[in-house]
Amino acid sequence: MSERDCLQCGESQAAIRASQSARDPIFCGAVDYFGECEWEQERHRFRDWSDKELIEGWKVQPEHVDKYRRIMNGLGDTLIAKNQACGDSALNPVRIFSAADTTEQLKVRIDDKLSRLKRGNNAGEDVITDLIGYLVLLKIANRQEPE
Ligand SMILES: [Zn+2]
Repeated sequence: MSERDCLQCGESQAAIRASQSARDPIFCGAVDYFGECEWEQERHRFRDWSDKELIEGWKVQPEHVDKYRRIMNGLGDTLIAKNQACGDSALNPVRIFSAADTTEQLKVRIDDKLSRLKRGNNAGEDVITDLIGYLVLLKIANRQEPE
């Protein structure tokens, strides 16, 4: 995802502009498997909310803004570092034994983490952080290869 993709729907700014010029605008939202609207936003968004927008517009408690940003930034840094250490294997699997596509392999990893949580078999692991990481990678993979 480049800086010119909508932060909400993932469409590129170029595609959005072209659709608007053609008078067939791409709406900011997502549809489910059956074509039903899952969510929709009034506008595409190409930058993060400012603290002022969150506090005044969304009525987020000021002390929570910093908490969310610190947790999300920390998770982002951890995810980038872990994926880098694994040679980007989550988004570009080597496919020696498994020929499954990237999203399918990520779903297997997510199921495995959920299984460990369910069985209480997660000693020495931060399963919550790992799960969030795999879910973020799944979002990235879904944008790379739409199903
Ligand atoms: Zn959008």
